[in-house]
Amino acid sequence: SMAPTSRPNDAEQRNLLNGTRPNFKNRRQQIQQQRRALPIASARIRLVEEIRKNDTLIIVGETGSGKTTQLPQYLFDAGFHRDGVIGVTQPRRVAAITVAKRVAEECDVMLGQKVGYAIRFEDATSSSTKIKYMTDGLLLREALLDPYLSKYSVIIVDEAHERTVQTDVLLGLLKNIQQERSRSVYVKNGNKTLEDSMQLDNKDDAQDKGFLKQCNGKKCSPLKLIIMSASLDAHVFSEFFGGAKAVHVQGRQYPVEVFYTHQPETDYIEATLITIFQIHLEEDPGDILVFLTGQEEIESVERLIQEYLQRLPEANRKLSAFPIFSSLPSEKQMKVFIPAPNGFRKVILATNIAETSVTIPGIKYVIDPGLVKARAYQARTGIESLAIVKTSKAQSLQRSGRAGREGPGKSYRLYPEYEFEKLANSTTPEIKRCNLSNVILQLKACGINDIMKFQFIDKPEGIAIMKSLESLYLLGALTEEGTLSDPLGHQMARLPLDPLYSKALVVASQFNCLDEMLISVAMLSVESIFYAPREKLEESRKALKFFSSPEGDHLTLLNVYRASEEFLKKNAGTSSVKAEKSLRRWCKENFINSRSLKHARDVHSQILRIVEQMGLQFASCGEDTLLFRRCLAASFFLKAALKQPDGTYRVLSSGLIVQIHPSSVLFRAKPECVVFDELVKTNNSYIRNVTRIDYLWLTELAPQLYAPEE
Ligand code: ADP
Ligand code: MG
Repeated sequence: SMAPTSRPNDAEQRNLLNGTRPNFKNRRQQIQQQRRALPIASARIRLVEEIRKNDTLIIVGETGSGKTTQLPQYLFDAGFHRDGVIGVTQPRRVAAITVAKRVAEECDVMLGQKVGYAIRFEDATSSSTKIKYMTDGLLLREALLDPYLSKYSVIIVDEAHERTVQTDVLLGLLKNIQQERSRSVYVKNGNKTLEDSMQLDNKDDAQDKGFLKQCNGKKCSPLKLIIMSASLDAHVFSEFFGGAKAVHVQGRQYPVEVFYTHQPETDYIEATLITIFQIHLEEDPGDILVFLTGQEEIESVERLIQEYLQRLPEANRKLSAFPIFSSLPSEKQMKVFIPAPNGFRKVILATNIAETSVTIPGIKYVIDPGLVKARAYQARTGIESLAIVKTSKAQSLQRSGRAGREGPGKSYRLYPEYEFEKLANSTTPEIKRCNLSNVILQLKACGINDIMKFQFIDKPEGIAIMKSLESLYLLGALTEEGTLSDPLGHQMARLPLDPLYSKALVVASQFNCLDEMLISVAMLSVESIFYAPREKLEESRKALKFFSSPEGDHLTLLNVYRASEEFLKKNAGTSSVKAEKSLRRWCKENFINSRSLKHARDVHSQILRIVEQMGLQFASCGEDTLLFRRCLAASFFLKAALKQPDGTYRVLSSGLIVQIHPSSVLFRAKPECVVFDELVKTNNSYIRNVTRIDYLWLTELAPQLYAPEE
């Protein structure tokens, strides 16, 4: 089935490509033409009408039909922005950024003016922004400061089918907010009147009579809610919003031929590479989209492609790889959208971001190993982990569909057909398989005290809610009555971080090591800082040794960060471009992932700002790293583990048996007692980013959990 087909010669190929290539004469006209050709364009008038008529509308349309980029513009053109900002939420940072950039270009405006985006740690909006793309998590945080989200006239919850935990919580919260805003108070001459008691026919009537509508003292109009989804089961959302209307936008989909392997693959990375090159050498022109599970994997495949290419004859090397994943700096993310140079084939290495969130033009081939990195949570033990799991059928279908956007395509599933039949139909909503502490802390901060009564679209298990409440209580964020504690709970809720990290920062200000903890949290917030290419394993180990601390990975990461600062200081005289370049070289020499380090530096400066605003005590513990480790014990005590006679570890809060991950500097040392950052599940359970502590510190610093029973 993967037999070679005849290929056009070079000249033919150039002609072919020129035909589909953007015509650079007039990019603006080109874009307008593309917009008009999108499937959603023919539904424009109907959609705007439905949105006028319905306060809540569900829009279902295939990926690539134009929902995300077009609908906000239609609403803007129809004047919806006059009552407030048109907000669009995305489950992923990359989608928010790339789409905002595209829409700014389509509108022919500078990004951050009429069209902007905001994600955690980055805000590209201004007071003139009318179409605002953001992550769903960010909008949740805005609701903490502005409980009615009064600056928005319309909120579009995009990619709702993904059912991320933030989307689910947001939907519940928005339902409340919409109800509140539709029966908020009217004010005239300082006297408040309830809408219901005014006997008004409509809002215009009220305004005619000189009333001003307010939410909580601010001028505020009813909220339009639009839920957009790429999956066909709109009824879940419709039911949740009291039978809200759903409209379907017809997409365009060409046939996609699906291939399976004969046997299960033992090494899917290798199978991926072989398939990439088989397509590259034997199939017609057209770009390849590969679904991988994360940054590390993407970067290693990227390197392997370069190596393979070197072995090919010059004429066959016209293949260029582009990665796309969430923590990739945004200038790099945009590269996937640029057409490959003449005669070149693009291969895009993506996480499941490319499943529905971003549509990349030009894809004709999809390679799908059938795996995805997902959160898993065991409510009984309260242990959350990141694991690579099989995709659902719905996900495989979405992935294959990416090959048939512009013409017939091919999809290569790297598993046998009988395995497909065994897959689950759809993915379980994330809220049912994650630790809820973060979400509950945010809901509490939004004034929602009774979590059990909160309207979830899919209610998490009672035990999962109880476990999270319990851990927030143990962290000191909640009082015995279950309300936010003062000041700790409020401080923790202000930080856009996992509650354990927030706690660590607040505690660090008391332990005089906020400087160190801030760096740790920033370094832990990004994907792996170190990389170890297979062929240079020894050298990379040596490089790691140079930074490694016998105390553990947190201090090792701290050493890396500080060393990079030192390096930058030494190069301070040079231009910033030059400095960046030499830092990249330094990273390469030291087997450090420069992308991750750059990201960590950004995260650091953003958290620093918030921490300063909060007025936390800033200090460094200097050489006294004991203080820092005690601080880790005081905040990460829920993630403490004790060595067993057989060399494995037992997580104290759950009883789970784990091992120290081979990448840890403590892998061999195996100290008696440790705290860890993350639990990773493959065949075994591994703990990653581990630091040595003293068990007695736990009884001293976290007596609520570890005090010896009398
Ligand atoms: P949907 O939300 O329905 O999946 P989108 O609005 O995201 O659809 O995309 C509509 C079209 O716009 C797609 O065909 C895609 O190829 C194109 N597009 C989106 N972003 C970009 C970009 N940054 N550069 C070029 N084309 C883009
Ligand atoms: Mg979309």
